[in-house]
Amino acid sequence: MSLAEPFPSVRVRAPGKINVYLEVGRLMPDGYHDLATAFQAVSLYEDVTATHDDDFVIGSITGTVPLIGVPKDDRNLALAAAKLLAAETGYHGGVRLDIAKDVPVSGGMGGGSADAAAALVACDALWGTGLTSGDLHALAARLGADVPFALLGGTAVGTGRGDNLNPALAHGRFDWVLAANPVGVSTPEAYAMLDRHREEHGAEIGHGRDVPGVEADVLHALRQGDARMLAAALSNDLQAATLRLRPDLSEVLELGESSGALAGIVSGSGPTLAFLCESAEAAAELQQTLVTSGTDALLAHGPVPGARIVG
Ligand code: ATP
Repeated sequence: MSLAEPFPSVRVRAPGKINVYLEVGRLMPDGYHDLATAFQAVSLYEDVTATHDDDFVIGSITGTVPLIGVPKDDRNLALAAAKLLAAETGYHGGVRLDIAKDVPVSGGMGGGSADAAAALVACDALWGTGLTSGDLHALAARLGADVPFALLGGTAVGTGRGDNLNPALAHGRFDWVLAANPVGVSTPEAYAMLDRHREEHGAEIGHGRDVPGVEADVLHALRQGDARMLAAALSNDLQAATLRLRPDLSEVLELGESSGALAGIVSGSGPTLAFLCESAEAAAELQQTLVTSGTDALLAHGPVPGARIVG
């Protein structure tokens, strides 16, 4: 193939994420909350392959995780991303997207957002639309609050709805065990539960800060690459709400924490639980313990890069 010929297809890989810190601000009159979060991209990847087509179609959805609930129609975030890019750039053709998923579906790890980010990068390359990374970031933010981070990857602080992103300095490698759960948690339900809890117990727990911010010790731990320090600083305001909705998760959280994890945390609104470990060996041992107890547990490490062309 000469360089002048278009690519027949483009494959892009984008990572899932863990929120190592998630603070939810006070409920705003518009029903939303401002957030402050520290994202870490981890080595569970979504691969999206874009191939020229006259229509916009999902060709196949495969993966190493249960795929229940992943739509094949316009509700699929990858397809929505492709259509948005075409509309914004005036591209007249279509695309077929084949999606291979490693990120647990509805797991609070941003798998659908990673698909959207991957589709944006893949279609931009396939169609030669040549957007700048700033343009892609702006489109990503329109698709969902977690999509810009899947483009960026690494480690970043998100504020506003989580999509106002600033890369954060990070060193070293953090080893995680992710306990997946086949029954998803609805993110709006987790927020509603948190609001109810704050309404009932505001006097003791407060209503959330007006302007939330990531605590300095989290950023320090990430900069130092210090897993013990990060374990002590892990925090998620949605955790109590998710555990109220899903008391069954507490048992797994306790098992992980008493079986070698430095600390465990609900990932986003769950139901995935993320256990931070001292080393890759410690993570492998914990994974074994969880699997033996009947929990589906995956190994991952971070930080890893954002959406990029592979193959
Ligand atoms: P969120 O916190 O945004 O709800 P999540 O990280 O918990 O997301 P995802 O796997 O991203 O979980 O999917 C959430 C929902 O989004 C799914 O139940 C599904 O209905 C819908 N969805 C749309 N596109 C996709 C996609 N490409 N992959 C997975 N789910 C998708």
